[in-house]
Amino acid sequence: MHLRFYPYTLELAQPFTLATSSRTTTPALMVELEHEGLIGYGEAAMPPYLGETPASAAAFLKLVDPAAFPDLQQIAAIGAQIDSLAPGNPAAKAALDLALHDWVGKKLNTSWHRRWGLDLARIPATSFTIGIDTPAVVRQKTLAAAPYKILKVKLGRDTDRELITTIRQVTDQPLTVDANQGWRDREDALRMSEWLATQGVLFIEQPMPKEQIDDTAWLRERSPLPLIADESVQRLRDVPAARGVFDGINIKLMKCTGLHEAHQMITLARQLNLKVMLGCMTETSCAISAAAQLSPLADWVDLDGALLIKNDLFNGAQLVDGKIIPTEAPGLGLTKR
Ligand code: MG
Repeated sequence: MHLRFYPYTLELAQPFTLATSSRTTTPALMVELEHEGLIGYGEAAMPPYLGETPASAAAFLKLVDPAAFPDLQQIAAIGAQIDSLAPGNPAAKAALDLALHDWVGKKLNTSWHRRWGLDLARIPATSFTIGIDTPAVVRQKTLAAAPYKILKVKLGRDTDRELITTIRQVTDQPLTVDANQGWRDREDALRMSEWLATQGVLFIEQPMPKEQIDDTAWLRERSPLPLIADESVQRLRDVPAARGVFDGINIKLMKCTGLHEAHQMITLARQLNLKVMLGCMTETSCAISAAAQLSPLADWVDLDGALLIKNDLFNGAQLVDGKIIPTEAPGLGLTKR
């Protein structure tokens, strides 16, 4: 059994601007797990604000002894052991989890959506992110996004209303909003939610800083729009605390250590009556195709990561009629370019 990994820089087709930063590349670490003539592919995508780097992910993966896992189909047990090697490192752990799922699916000759018995017809349309920019560029980006059924807008600056107004000058497409913790005053946040509700917005992702739990719960009591946790919910253990504070959670493989835990988070969220959004980082089609295996279980899907880069390493899940549809090929359904 061989575990290989190498750094890879994802090049963005357009600079990506959040409430707190702007960038043109995203570092990643690609993983290959080879055993019995099959290769499982995995990926750790690490936007800098989350604290992991290709070096930290490589250091973590060096702790892993593949020979300690003679039966790769024991995904839950292997995942628990990998998780116990060191705290943190969710993207590095996810890279292994993805490679493991890809390998096992290939071994069993089945895709994961099929193994989980999911109906691809239930996959919601993906949102597509319109980055913060000048009004002229925002109008142009919005027009270019016509193939997508839902647009996602990054807010959390003092130009929030202008940005929405600019987009509404050129399209009636439904919008979702991600404030990325950018609103600090709950009264302001409520007024913004009330206004956004008149602008065809479906929900608000992470309106306030994750530390402002009471303010977020206050906002949720009054907000006409549902509130979805992103920065506030990383892993399975964070899900129960979202109840009463948020209406739903945004699950990302790179936050939660991969498909195994993401699947558990969806199950728990449903038990707690929380909505489920499936999100991503800037990623290749490797991680996007992994997330797409679960997307029939989601209320909302935000899997535009591979659409935003110009040097994808894989062919996998494809955009079809505004939806990211995984292939029927075994594992994660990937072929390397
Ligand atoms: Mg978000």
